[in-house]
Amino acid sequence: MTDEPTAGVDIGGTKIRAAVVTSGGEVLASATAPTPSGGQAMLDVAAELVGRATASAGVRVAAVGVGAAGVVDPWTGEVLAASDSFAGWVGTDVRTGLAVRTGLPVVVANDVDSFLVGEATWGAVRGVGSAAGIALGTGVGGALWLDGALYRGAGAAGEIGHMPGFGEARCTCGQRGHLETLASGRSVERRYAELGGAAGVGATEIESRARTGDPTAIRVLADAGHAVGSAVLVLAALLDVGHVVVGGGLARAWDLLEPALLDRLSDEPPVSGHVIEVRPAVLGGDATVVGAAALARRL
Ligand SMILES: [Zn+2]
Repeated sequence: MTDEPTAGVDIGGTKIRAAVVTSGGEVLASATAPTPSGGQAMLDVAAELVGRATASAGVRVAAVGVGAAGVVDPWTGEVLAASDSFAGWVGTDVRTGLAVRTGLPVVVANDVDSFLVGEATWGAVRGVGSAAGIALGTGVGGALWLDGALYRGAGAAGEIGHMPGFGEARCTCGQRGHLETLASGRSVERRYAELGGAAGVGATEIESRARTGDPTAIRVLADAGHAVGSAVLVLAALLDVGHVVVGGGLARAWDLLEPALLDRLSDEPPVSGHVIEVRPAVLGGDATVVGAAALARRL
């Protein structure tokens, strides 16, 4: 552990963002650029952004943490799998590539893992021994923080978006009935259209329609909350985590998701008798980049 600031990098499908973060979780400076095509070009941009953020903060950083989209091997720092929107990203050795470019030690994790480390270090589940993180974005991601450390399994631990048992709808992965078919931004939009709302309405608009009393909008968001509640019960049964933090774009509609989620938890409370606290994320859009910087503190 170091008292020096560290740098966090969030590598996403449309943009790459770097930030210099203090030991207290404060962002001193940040820099953002569009994501180029190809793994080496992405690393070039990431290194350049770290340099730019560090220069504008006027400090030295001790290490770099990366939260990257896709499945990342936590030991080698190599990208094992990613969606089609990341041309030339699979097979990229992010850890070595960025260490060579910046001259700094580098740690690499998946973006949802980084989000959870951020929330566990400086956010909604700060100071908690064990917690699960659920990110309701375009898809649904998950991560596990067990006994004060990120638990990664073989690299994809906690990926609850593709947990089965949630109906029959076709998932983005090609299989059926995964959590993601009810609880992602994309599935909320699809279901709103299917249930008689309207086609082509975005998740943010569906949230505002729910707030003005649109019953279909209220229903699809409640169904998402109910599904997340079921996933939380599975996590609690399996791991006895007492805390869950929910983030991602759809979690902005927390007031619309929470009642159905809590109903689900009270319908079938864990047999352990332990209370599960589910909290909305507090670090917002910076959660991944700040969490990646938190991960770098643990190098
Ligand atoms: Zn799936």
